[in-house]
Amino acid sequence: MDIKVLGTRGEIEESAPYHARQSGILIDDILLLDCGDQKFLEYDPRIILITHLHPDHAFFVRHRVLRPPHLKAKVYAPEKFGDWNIIIPQKHFYAAGYRITPIPTVHSIKVKSHAYLIANNKKTILYTGDMVWIDKKYHHMLKNIDLVITEASFMRKGGMVRRDPVTGNIFGHTGVPNLIRIFKPYTDRILFVHFGSWFYKNMKKARQKFGQLAKENAIEIIVGYDGFTIIV
Ligand SMILES: [Zn+2]
Ligand SMILES: [Zn+2]
Repeated sequence: MDIKVLGTRGEIEESAPYHARQSGILIDDILLLDCGDQKFLEYDPRIILITHLHPDHAFFVRHRVLRPPHLKAKVYAPEKFGDWNIIIPQKHFYAAGYRITPIPTVHSIKVKSHAYLIANNKKTILYTGDMVWIDKKYHHMLKNIDLVITEASFMRKGGMVRRDPVTGNIFGHTGVPNLIRIFKPYTDRILFVHFGSWFYKNMKKARQKFGQLAKENAIEIIVGYDGFTIIV
């Protein structure tokens, strides 16, 4: 799979060269994972998989673009939005030669969220979007993943997790060290995108911190940037 990172900035004010665009990953020029920027539609993808309806992952939520532009793509997301012809996947499905499996994630109490497991006949990748956690009952799906693409909103252990006082449900983002711990049993390689403010304060130091975590955990870590490409 030919993977192109289109954007690596989380939902924050800060911006920097190579870390300016919001979430979007293009696979083999036809499958788009998240669409945090309307410009990404210019790649004319055939399939769009949205992890959740937060504006940095679904541009049309920001300005409430209720009517979709003309699209060739089939759009999948965990929920409907306006007049967008959104398909809500319940279980795995096949599209354009990929086997795609939505996996529910814990992230928000306002919107539903999915990670997506994408496999062709050779390789498997996981794209998580924003998350606190994936319920244990789904962990059996996470086997032999060639590349995990996940978020780096918070470097500190524990990230930023809150609890709804009424339901007791947790929401927010877990920390980078926690994500490494969650995914290490299932992969040898993690690509981080969706950087939070901490990353922009000192990028050199931020990269060093990732390097340190890679060493400590004996895992390959890639720090993504807008325009980064990798073949898995
Ligand atoms: Zn986000
Ligand atoms: Zn989010």
